[in-house]
Amino acid sequence: MKTHAQAVIIGGGLAGCSILYHLAKLGWTDIVLLERDELTSGSTWHAAANIHGLHDHNNTTRIQHYTMTLYKQLEEETGQGCGIFQPGSLYLAQSEEREHQLRLQEAKARLYGLGFHEISHERALELHPLAQFDDVRCIMFEPDGGNVDPSGVTMAYAAGARQRGAQIERFCPVTGTEQQPDGSWIVRTEKGDIHTDWVVNAAGLWGREVAAMAGIELPLQPTEHQYFVTEAMPEIEAIGRRLPSIADRDGEYYFRQEGNGLLIGAYEEDMRFWAEDGTPADFGHELFEDDLDRIMENVMRAIDRVPLAANAGVKRVINGPMIWSPDSSVLFGPVPELKNYFCCTGIIPGFSQSGGFGLLAAQWMIEGEPQYDMFAWDLARFDDWADKAFTRARVRDQYIHRFKIHFPNEERDAGRPVRTRPAYEMQRERGAVFGLNAGWEHPLWFADTPGTAETAGFTRQNWFAPVGYEARMLRDNVGVIDISNFANYVISGPSAHSWLDA
Ligand SMILES: Cc1cc2nc3c(=O)[nH]c(=O)nc-3n(C[C@H](O)[C@H](O)[C@H](O)COP(=O)(O)OP(=O)(O)OC[C@H]3O[C@@H](n4cnc5c(N)ncnc54)[C@H](O)[C@@H]3O)c2cc1C
Repeated sequence: MKTHAQAVIIGGGLAGCSILYHLAKLGWTDIVLLERDELTSGSTWHAAANIHGLHDHNNTTRIQHYTMTLYKQLEEETGQGCGIFQPGSLYLAQSEEREHQLRLQEAKARLYGLGFHEISHERALELHPLAQFDDVRCIMFEPDGGNVDPSGVTMAYAAGARQRGAQIERFCPVTGTEQQPDGSWIVRTEKGDIHTDWVVNAAGLWGREVAAMAGIELPLQPTEHQYFVTEAMPEIEAIGRRLPSIADRDGEYYFRQEGNGLLIGAYEEDMRFWAEDGTPADFGHELFEDDLDRIMENVMRAIDRVPLAANAGVKRVINGPMIWSPDSSVLFGPVPELKNYFCCTGIIPGFSQSGGFGLLAAQWMIEGEPQYDMFAWDLARFDDWADKAFTRARVRDQYIHRFKIHFPNEERDAGRPVRTRPAYEMQRERGAVFGLNAGWEHPLWFADTPGTAETAGFTRQNWFAPVGYEARMLRDNVGVIDISNFANYVISGPSAHSWLDA
């Protein structure tokens, strides 16, 4: 095994292998990935591995589109099959707001040159003759939607990295990471130590444990998550081609073809946390006991959509762990308190995003800056204030609302308040409507009636008139704005004055 490397990546799941691949592609080849078991041994091996391109957040759309395009290139480049099926995805709107959301996404797709367009009910039935769409207001079709093979994709990243000179050590658990006085790192393993410039924590389900080796705490919490696959159905076989997947977010389930059967999964209300006090070191290729009753309400809605599913026997149930951050976005980027320690943990739709985050990680480490604004993913958005209680409350909220519409500027209540300032009660009594900013309850605007909650939607909401009034007051008269949650910078030293004047 190597004793020196430019970068050591800890974790051979989807994220770690993608980062290894992209670092090698961008020119760092003296790099090694350490995996405690076989590659894919965390969440990766048992994922449903659905892939989607469009997202409400623009840069997420960009990285998802990059990822979906990359899989075919990876296959060609490495010869390793990624098990790509792209029969397309049907996005359904049952409510007016969902229709609004899909129409906004359609407009965005046009802007970015992506495939996502409205189709008629008749066309949807041609594409998916087993489904019924009577209760659906609007249907969009994403031609590139589908799924991949989780192991195939991970192995393809690994093969592409190896072809460029990167190394992978399997069955090599990392037992310690120690920063040296010069800022470099010693990574300790049972097979020996590696001296490296960069450490990358891509340990997925064990992201917390690996972070603790460097003295940091990450706000992450694993949950159980279930889907099942039905027995093969002659009606599907008779169609003779792959059916599009169905993204019926209002129904709160996901649904696609698997073999000649169906795959149905759900983010249920009655969710379960797992490993609250730490992920067991010896957890391997294991699953939890089936508990389909918990997702039965969602499954019944899926059966309403494709009635034939009611006749199919259950062939296989997957109840496996996945790990979440408080806002369900990846904890990504260099840890501010440490030199050259990079995190990529808590990635939820890994199969839609792995390529993008691998590329951005490599850009950030090699070039010092990634190509997109990192605000939504930078792990610096959380700090000590995001403690276990907050993380649990938020993860629960994110899990059970996974398919709800997340409106622009959404402020969620779960886990709040975390930090309040002395003026908080006074502001509340005066009608402040609060948002969460760096853990602080921060007045966003003042309503006439104390206790008013902000409404959510794609159009002008109840903040519009009061905010206009506040802006006019400040422009024409006088007002006070509480900005004490903004960062304070202390500039000191002999040249501070001239530097500030420059
Ligand atoms: C039931 C289920 C269905 C899912 N369906 C989808 C889906 O349809 N689409 C989608 O995009 N995503 C899906 N996901 C999520 C997806 O699985 C994850 O986003 C992805 O697998 C995360 O990959 P990762 O590399 O970050 O973590 P992991 O897969 O957990 O990998 C971490 C790796 O690090 C290794 N490791 C840990 N500690 C150490 C150490 N000390 N030393 C060395 N190695 C270490 C582990 O052994 C493991 O191999 C699903 C998840 C579940 C549970």
